[in-house]
Amino acid sequence: MNATEWKQYFESVSPLMEENKNYLSELDRRLGDGDHGVTMSIGWQAVQEEIKSSLSEEKDCGKIAMKVGRSFLSAVGSSVGPLYASGFINGAKAIKNKTELNEEDLIDFWVNFIKGVHERGQANIGDKTMLDTLLPVLSILEGSTEPPLVRFKLALTTAEKAMISTKDMVSQKGRSSRLGERSKGVQDPGATSAYLIFLKFVEHSQGIAKLHH
Ligand code: ADP
Ligand code: MG
Repeated sequence: MNATEWKQYFESVSPLMEENKNYLSELDRRLGDGDHGVTMSIGWQAVQEEIKSSLSEEKDCGKIAMKVGRSFLSAVGSSVGPLYASGFINGAKAIKNKTELNEEDLIDFWVNFIKGVHERGQANIGDKTMLDTLLPVLSILEGSTEPPLVRFKLALTTAEKAMISTKDMVSQKGRSSRLGERSKGVQDPGATSAYLIFLKFVEHSQGIAKLHH
């Protein structure tokens, strides 16, 4: 994946968040304060603008991911701002100075993205957060011996199941934990946005792979 394709990925998340804005906010209305769709919309629009302006000539994929994280953080006030930003910034460090990302680099990026979110959020599987979607992805990316693009596909299938599994969980972290047992029955908004972010990446990378074969 070259720098242009890398930027195209980040830009492509925004329209997907727009499509899902009401859905994400509705989930958050039932579990928290109802802002998750708006938050994602604002954050990803800021990313899109950054790519069009200050990143338009940037060829360093590490710098691109770093700026994506920083612009997301400065645009987003709620708890997901620092969570996703930690992911992008930690992922960026793993691909420092690279103008082209091979499949192993992409694995490294996502492994470190998830570790960054985990370090920041300190939630584990079963806590009903975005880490319910992301930690099973980490296990597959690190643990599977399949080729990277196959691993991404397997991880995406797992991520979807993991996202759905948050519906039956009782929240242990963040605003929704105040609901206790009443948080059961609604899928976690952050687990859902994390799935969408990863879904777009897997679609984008598979599309590029097809183009080159
Ligand atoms: P806020 O709770 O500040 O309104 P959002 O509504 O934007 O923030 O995001 C809520 C999401 O944040 C939750 O659905 C959950 O997935 C995620 N979240 C909250 N706390 C944590 C945490 N400690 N670790 C990981 N994710 C978390
Ligand atoms: Mg909220």
